Amino acid sequence: MIRVVFLALALLVGGQTAALELKGPFTQGALITGTTVPGSSVTLDGVPILALPNGSFVFGLSRNADSKALVTVRHKDGRIEQKRLKVRKRNYRIQRIDGLPKRKVTPKTRDYKRIARERKLLNDARQRMTKIADFQKGFMWPAHGRISGVYGSQRILNGKPRAPHLGVDVAAPTGSPVVAASDGVVSLTHEAMFFTGKTIQIDHGIGVGTIYIHLSEVLVKKGQRVRKGQLIGRIGKTGRATGPHLHWGLTWKNMRLDPALLVGPMPDALKKQR
Ligand SMILES: [Zn+2]
Repeated sequence: MIRVVFLALALLVGGQTAALELKGPFTQGALITGTTVPGSSVTLDGVPILALPNGSFVFGLSRNADSKALVTVRHKDGRIEQKRLKVRKRNYRIQRIDGLPKRKVTPKTRDYKRIARERKLLNDARQRMTKIADFQKGFMWPAHGRISGVYGSQRILNGKPRAPHLGVDVAAPTGSPVVAASDGVVSLTHEAMFFTGKTIQIDHGIGVGTIYIHLSEVLVKKGQRVRKGQLIGRIGKTGRATGPHLHWGLTWKNMRLDPALLVGPMPDALKKQR
Protein backbone atom coordinates (compact mmCIF):
# COMPACT_ATOMS: atom_id res chain seq x y z
CA MET A 1 0.00 0.00 0.00
CA ILE A 2 2.72 2.43 1.04
CA ARG A 3 4.57 1.57 -2.12
CA VAL A 4 1.53 2.50 -4.22
CA VAL A 5 1.25 5.89 -2.53
CA PHE A 6 4.92 6.60 -3.22
CA LEU A 7 4.46 5.67 -6.84
CA ALA A 8 1.46 7.98 -7.14
CA LEU A 9 3.44 10.84 -5.59
CA ALA A 10 6.36 10.22 -7.92
CA LEU A 11 4.03 10.32 -10.92
CA LEU A 12 2.49 13.55 -9.69
CA VAL A 13 5.87 15.20 -9.17
CA GLY A 14 7.03 13.84 -12.51
CA GLY A 15 3.98 15.32 -14.18
CA GLN A 16 4.48 18.73 -12.60
CA THR A 17 8.13 18.98 -13.53
CA ALA A 18 7.65 17.76 -17.09
CA ALA A 19 8.48 21.17 -18.46
CA LEU A 20 10.32 22.67 -21.34
CA GLU A 21 10.30 26.45 -21.20
CA LEU A 22 11.83 28.61 -23.92
CA LYS A 23 12.25 32.35 -23.82
CA GLY A 24 12.52 34.19 -27.15
CA PRO A 25 11.97 36.31 -29.18
CA PHE A 26 11.97 33.64 -31.89
CA THR A 27 13.56 35.77 -34.56
CA GLN A 28 16.78 35.72 -36.57
CA GLY A 29 19.70 36.94 -34.44
CA ALA A 30 18.09 36.09 -31.10
CA LEU A 31 19.59 34.38 -28.06
CA ILE A 32 17.09 31.84 -26.74
CA THR A 33 17.22 30.73 -23.11
CA GLY A 34 15.57 27.55 -21.93
CA THR A 35 14.90 25.55 -18.81
CA THR A 36 13.93 21.95 -18.37
CA VAL A 37 14.08 19.19 -15.79
CA PRO A 38 17.57 18.86 -14.24
CA GLY A 39 19.55 16.04 -15.78
CA SER A 40 17.80 16.14 -19.17
CA SER A 41 19.69 16.27 -22.45
CA VAL A 42 18.83 18.80 -25.11
CA THR A 43 19.30 18.95 -28.87
CA LEU A 44 18.62 21.70 -31.40
CA ASP A 45 17.81 20.28 -34.85
CA GLY A 46 19.50 17.07 -33.73
CA VAL A 47 22.70 18.73 -32.50
CA PRO A 48 23.43 18.38 -28.76
CA ILE A 49 23.39 21.54 -26.64
CA LEU A 50 25.11 21.73 -23.27
CA ALA A 51 22.56 21.98 -20.44
CA LEU A 52 23.64 22.89 -16.91
CA PRO A 53 22.88 20.44 -14.06
CA ASN A 54 19.97 22.71 -13.02
CA GLY A 55 18.33 22.28 -16.44
CA SER A 56 19.27 25.69 -17.91
CA PHE A 57 20.41 25.86 -21.50
CA VAL A 58 20.83 28.44 -24.22
CA PHE A 59 21.22 28.64 -27.98
CA GLY A 60 21.28 31.20 -30.78
CA LEU A 61 19.31 31.75 -33.97
CA SER A 62 21.77 33.08 -36.53
CA ARG A 63 21.38 36.14 -38.80
CA ASN A 64 20.12 33.89 -41.59
CA ALA A 65 18.51 31.18 -39.45
CA ASP A 66 16.01 28.88 -41.13
CA SER A 67 12.32 29.62 -40.53
CA LYS A 68 11.93 26.42 -38.48
CA ALA A 69 13.85 24.94 -35.55
CA LEU A 70 13.21 21.90 -33.41
CA VAL A 71 14.18 21.64 -29.74
CA THR A 72 14.15 18.13 -28.31
CA VAL A 73 14.55 17.30 -24.63
CA ARG A 74 15.17 13.76 -23.48
CA HIS A 75 14.42 13.34 -19.78
CA LYS A 76 16.29 10.97 -17.50
CA ASP A 77 13.31 8.58 -17.51
CA GLY A 78 13.52 8.38 -21.32
CA ARG A 79 10.50 10.60 -21.95
CA ILE A 80 10.90 12.97 -24.89
CA GLU A 81 9.50 16.48 -25.20
CA GLN A 82 9.71 18.60 -28.32
CA LYS A 83 9.03 22.17 -29.30
CA ARG A 84 8.84 23.41 -32.86
CA LEU A 85 9.89 27.02 -33.28
CA LYS A 86 8.76 29.30 -36.04
CA VAL A 87 11.63 31.73 -36.58
CA ARG A 88 10.71 35.18 -37.84
CA LYS A 89 12.76 36.47 -40.75
CA ARG A 90 14.21 39.98 -40.63
CA ASN A 91 14.90 42.53 -43.29
CA TYR A 92 18.39 43.90 -42.97
CA ARG A 93 19.46 47.37 -44.00
CA ILE A 94 22.27 48.35 -46.29
CA GLN A 95 24.78 50.64 -44.61
CA ARG A 96 27.39 52.63 -46.53
CA ILE A 97 30.42 53.96 -44.69
CA ASP A 98 33.02 56.08 -46.45
CA GLY A 99 36.21 57.69 -45.29
CA LEU A 100 37.73 54.60 -43.68
CA PRO A 101 41.51 54.20 -44.06
CA LYS A 102 42.08 52.18 -47.25
CA ARG A 103 44.23 49.61 -45.47
CA LYS A 104 41.42 48.82 -42.98
CA VAL A 105 39.04 47.98 -45.85
CA THR A 106 41.53 46.17 -48.09
CA PRO A 107 44.34 45.04 -45.78
CA LYS A 108 47.87 44.59 -47.09
CA THR A 109 49.27 41.10 -47.55
CA ARG A 110 51.38 41.44 -44.42
CA ASP A 111 48.30 42.37 -42.37
CA TYR A 112 46.59 39.03 -43.03
CA LYS A 113 48.81 37.03 -40.67
CA ARG A 114 48.05 39.44 -37.87
CA ILE A 115 44.32 39.44 -38.69
CA ALA A 116 44.24 35.62 -38.66
CA ARG A 117 46.09 35.48 -35.33
CA GLU A 118 43.73 37.97 -33.73
CA ARG A 119 40.66 36.22 -35.14
CA LYS A 120 41.85 33.00 -33.50
CA LEU A 121 42.23 34.76 -30.12
CA LEU A 122 38.67 36.09 -30.40
CA ASN A 123 37.24 32.76 -31.55
CA ASP A 124 39.02 30.81 -28.82
CA ALA A 125 37.55 33.14 -26.20
CA ARG A 126 34.08 32.74 -27.76
CA GLN A 127 34.25 28.94 -27.73
CA ARG A 128 34.73 28.67 -23.95
CA MET A 129 31.96 26.55 -22.48
CA THR A 130 32.13 27.64 -18.85
CA LYS A 131 29.55 25.94 -16.68
CA ILE A 132 28.10 29.13 -15.24
CA ALA A 133 24.75 30.80 -15.93
CA ASP A 134 25.65 34.47 -15.45
CA PHE A 135 23.54 35.36 -18.51
CA GLN A 136 20.48 34.64 -16.35
CA LYS A 137 21.18 37.92 -14.58
CA GLY A 138 19.81 39.66 -17.69
CA PHE A 139 21.47 42.33 -19.83
CA MET A 140 21.67 46.12 -19.91
CA TRP A 141 22.97 48.62 -22.48
CA PRO A 142 26.75 48.85 -21.86
CA ALA A 143 26.91 52.46 -23.06
CA HIS A 144 24.57 55.34 -23.78
CA GLY A 145 24.47 57.40 -26.94
CA ARG A 146 23.12 57.54 -30.47
CA ILE A 147 22.63 54.16 -32.19
CA SER A 148 24.89 54.56 -35.23
CA GLY A 149 24.81 50.97 -36.49
CA VAL A 150 22.38 48.08 -36.13
CA TYR A 151 22.70 44.31 -36.32
CA GLY A 152 22.66 42.51 -39.62
CA SER A 153 23.23 45.42 -42.03
CA GLN A 154 24.88 44.62 -45.30
CA ARG A 155 27.96 46.81 -45.37
CA ILE A 156 29.54 48.78 -48.12
CA LEU A 157 32.82 50.24 -46.87
CA ASN A 158 34.51 52.85 -49.06
CA GLY A 159 32.29 51.53 -51.89
CA LYS A 160 33.32 47.87 -51.40
CA PRO A 161 30.84 45.17 -50.23
CA ARG A 162 32.05 43.68 -46.95
CA ALA A 163 30.79 41.26 -44.27
CA PRO A 164 27.50 42.19 -42.57
CA HIS A 165 27.58 44.23 -39.38
CA LEU A 166 26.99 41.76 -36.56
CA GLY A 167 26.59 43.98 -33.51
CA VAL A 168 25.21 47.31 -32.38
CA ASP A 169 27.09 50.61 -32.48
CA VAL A 170 26.58 53.28 -29.83
CA ALA A 171 28.16 56.62 -30.70
CA ALA A 172 29.34 58.76 -27.79
CA PRO A 173 32.35 60.97 -27.06
CA THR A 174 35.76 59.39 -26.44
CA GLY A 175 36.12 58.59 -22.75
CA SER A 176 32.42 57.85 -22.14
CA PRO A 177 31.95 54.89 -19.78
CA VAL A 178 31.43 51.32 -20.98
CA VAL A 179 29.98 48.87 -18.44
CA ALA A 180 29.57 45.10 -18.39
CA ALA A 181 26.20 44.20 -19.93
CA SER A 182 25.75 41.33 -17.45
CA ASP A 183 27.67 39.34 -14.85
CA GLY A 184 30.55 37.31 -16.21
CA VAL A 185 34.27 36.63 -16.40
CA VAL A 186 36.61 38.59 -18.69
CA SER A 187 37.75 36.07 -21.31
CA LEU A 188 39.99 38.35 -23.38
CA THR A 189 41.49 41.81 -23.37
CA HIS A 190 43.64 43.26 -26.12
CA GLU A 191 45.27 46.66 -26.49
CA ALA A 192 45.53 46.89 -30.30
CA MET A 193 43.70 44.58 -32.67
CA PHE A 194 43.72 45.33 -36.41
CA PHE A 195 39.95 45.71 -36.83
CA THR A 196 38.67 45.99 -33.27
CA GLY A 197 41.38 48.08 -31.59
CA LYS A 198 41.24 47.95 -27.80
CA THR A 199 38.96 45.01 -27.12
CA ILE A 200 37.23 43.25 -24.20
CA GLN A 201 35.32 39.97 -24.28
CA ILE A 202 33.19 38.70 -21.39
CA ASP A 203 32.11 35.10 -20.89
CA HIS A 204 28.58 34.87 -19.42
CA GLY A 205 28.47 31.06 -19.35
CA ILE A 206 27.77 28.02 -21.55
CA GLY A 207 28.86 29.72 -24.75
CA VAL A 208 27.25 33.16 -24.24
CA GLY A 209 29.67 36.05 -24.66
CA THR A 210 29.70 39.79 -25.23
CA ILE A 211 32.39 41.88 -26.89
CA TYR A 212 33.21 45.59 -26.53
CA ILE A 213 35.44 47.11 -29.19
CA HIS A 214 37.11 50.31 -30.48
CA LEU A 215 37.71 51.33 -26.84
CA SER A 216 40.08 54.09 -25.80
CA GLU A 217 40.78 52.38 -22.47
CA VAL A 218 40.57 48.82 -21.13
CA LEU A 219 39.99 48.85 -17.37
CA VAL A 220 39.74 45.10 -16.63
CA LYS A 221 42.03 42.09 -16.85
CA LYS A 222 41.55 38.62 -18.31
CA GLY A 223 40.10 36.24 -15.72
CA GLN A 224 38.51 39.04 -13.70
CA ARG A 225 34.94 38.53 -12.53
CA VAL A 226 32.72 41.47 -13.40
CA ARG A 227 29.22 42.44 -12.32
CA LYS A 228 26.42 43.76 -14.51
CA GLY A 229 26.84 47.55 -14.71
CA GLN A 230 30.50 47.57 -13.61
CA LEU A 231 32.81 50.01 -15.45
CA ILE A 232 35.10 47.98 -17.75
CA GLY A 233 36.40 50.48 -20.30
CA ARG A 234 35.92 53.75 -22.15
CA ILE A 235 34.58 54.57 -25.60
CA GLY A 236 37.12 55.32 -28.32
CA LYS A 237 37.79 54.89 -32.03
CA THR A 238 40.65 52.38 -32.10
CA GLY A 239 40.79 49.78 -34.91
CA ARG A 240 38.48 50.21 -37.92
CA ALA A 241 36.30 53.16 -36.91
CA THR A 242 35.56 56.58 -38.36
CA GLY A 243 34.51 58.16 -35.07
CA PRO A 244 34.23 57.34 -31.36
CA HIS A 245 31.67 54.62 -30.68
CA LEU A 246 31.22 51.34 -28.88
CA HIS A 247 30.63 48.30 -31.04
CA TRP A 248 28.78 45.87 -28.80
CA GLY A 249 28.49 42.25 -29.91
CA LEU A 250 26.73 39.19 -28.52
CA THR A 251 27.76 35.64 -29.34
CA TRP A 252 26.68 32.10 -28.69
CA LYS A 253 29.82 30.06 -29.34
CA ASN A 254 30.91 31.45 -32.72
CA MET A 255 27.47 32.63 -33.78
CA ARG A 256 26.98 36.41 -33.88
CA LEU A 257 23.66 37.49 -32.41
CA ASP A 258 21.82 40.78 -31.92
CA PRO A 259 22.47 42.21 -28.45
CA ALA A 260 19.74 44.85 -28.91
CA LEU A 261 17.13 42.08 -28.67
CA LEU A 262 18.23 41.46 -25.07
CA VAL A 263 17.82 45.02 -23.84
CA GLY A 264 15.06 46.62 -25.90
CA PRO A 265 15.25 50.11 -27.42
CA MET A 266 17.47 52.63 -25.69
CA PRO A 267 15.38 55.30 -23.94
CA ASP A 268 15.57 58.65 -25.80
CA ALA A 269 17.00 60.44 -22.76
CA LEU A 270 20.02 58.13 -22.81
CA LYS A 271 20.70 58.69 -26.53
CA LYS A 272 21.67 62.32 -25.94
CA GLN A 273 25.22 62.35 -24.72
CA ARG A 274 26.51 65.89 -24.11
ZN1 LIG B 1 30.01 48.11 -35.18
